[in-house]
Amino acid sequence: MTNEPHLARATGGAAPPAGPAALRRANLSLVLRELRDHPSLSRADIAEATGLHRATVSNLMAELLERRLVREVGVEHAGAIGRPRRAVALHGAHVGALGMEINVDYIAVHGTDLSGRVLVERRVVFDAMGSGPDRAVRRLGLVAKEAVEALRRAGTVPAGIAVAVPGLVDVARGVVTLAPNLYWHDLPLADRLTSMLGPLSVPVRVDNDANLAALAEYVSGVAAGTPDLVYLTGEVGVGGGIISGGRLLRGADGFSGEVGHLRVDPKGDRCGCGRVGCWETKVGLAALVRATMPEQAYGLPGKPVPDPGERVADIARGLASGDRRMTMAVAQAGEWLGLGGSILANLFNPRVIVVGGHFASLAQWLLPHAQDQLRRLVVAAPAVQCRFVASTLGFGAASRGAASMVVNHILDDPTTIMDPLPRPAAH
Ligand SMILES: [Zn+2]
Repeated sequence: MTNEPHLARATGGAAPPAGPAALRRANLSLVLRELRDHPSLSRADIAEATGLHRATVSNLMAELLERRLVREVGVEHAGAIGRPRRAVALHGAHVGALGMEINVDYIAVHGTDLSGRVLVERRVVFDAMGSGPDRAVRRLGLVAKEAVEALRRAGTVPAGIAVAVPGLVDVARGVVTLAPNLYWHDLPLADRLTSMLGPLSVPVRVDNDANLAALAEYVSGVAAGTPDLVYLTGEVGVGGGIISGGRLLRGADGFSGEVGHLRVDPKGDRCGCGRVGCWETKVGLAALVRATMPEQAYGLPGKPVPDPGERVADIARGLASGDRRMTMAVAQAGEWLGLGGSILANLFNPRVIVVGGHFASLAQWLLPHAQDQLRRLVVAAPAVQCRFVASTLGFGAASRGAASMVVNHILDDPTTIMDPLPRPAAH
């Protein structure tokens, strides 16, 4: 199965080519994507699969070899009596892609090479909510620098960084328009990080965390290849990434999927966005911590920020031991999760709602309640087939999606890779 035509559109890379240079870029991309989906292919295989002329494929292959994005893998025999053929494979072990995520209480890093081999992965506990934008951007920049250096030590030259942010992002300008839970407003994050990275000179992109996590799920998650899926982030904030007909739905201004701020209870609590009764005040991690362990609530003065994974593990331990207060609170959160899920099922008719973060960690307690509620509230009978499924990508889903976004931009336009890249010091 192959996702690439959809994904190319989803990542904005499928504008119709105009002029010889654009046509060549599109053909290089076509060949590279074909190789990504197979262990190795001969030039004849590629010509057949892409519909390009043999001579064109040979010519394109020469450029891809020059850029070290493909490598010769020697002679293969096609069948017992087939003629021997020279095969090529995707290479790009020297090309790094760095995905990052900043969230309320952590920074996550996921670095790969072009084939998706994971080279760097870490999560740094960090109080981004309490730090304010300047300190948070400085810290993010330092973690990015360390990750770039780690990728270099692993023998790659990072070709791009994508940063996932929990909020509204103007993707074209790399500006975070509003991240309510970080108290960020009109923050030119791509420019700020680019100037911090200085001579390392790695292009920086910014995107919404739920969109990137949805892409990660679509490419490599538990419901990979499902063309209609919704992803929900389970953090302090709750965001949604919507894949519809195999495409990431962005909306007129790129701000679709702000599902955490659906008003579900007009008499409810005030949200980080300033409104009252938003869905995330019912199902977000801060709400769940407040309901299950009030003494550990977010925002209490003088309390260090614990790792979100530890908070969730504490709740899971309480549930496993039958703690009554926790069991009731989590059942209630599950019902609210199902109510919001039913709104999304009525709107988008997804086959699967993949849930991440604490929703995934607490799935066995949350999802049965959510599924019951969804079944009661969805209107069209076939849409009731929609299932809540726990993500298996963990807290790293958005940073993983960010790294695959960088890889996709390279596959969209292989000429962005320098010709040739400087060879890394460590061979
Ligand atoms: Zn809100």
